Amino acid sequence: MNYDNWKLSPPDGDELLSPCCGSHYTETDESYECDSCNEEFDEPIVDYEYRARIAEDRAEAMMEDRRLGL
Ligand SMILES: [Zn+2]
Repeated sequence: MNYDNWKLSPPDGDELLSPCCGSHYTETDESYECDSCNEEFDEPIVDYEYRARIAEDRAEAMMEDRRLGL
């Protein structure tokens, strides 16, 4: 996991999204709240990191399917 890498060097100009839905969010007093599912989270995620995570999850699911012979 390279979570710390992007956290330590936040890129400028990239859109920040909620990590749960990749949606827009509202900043609250102590955290953030996803506009899509109202879930609270501590750190927004940059859009390309969210997309990379989705692609990773999908690749893993495909490998799992193959292993199970689906
Ligand atoms: Zn959400």
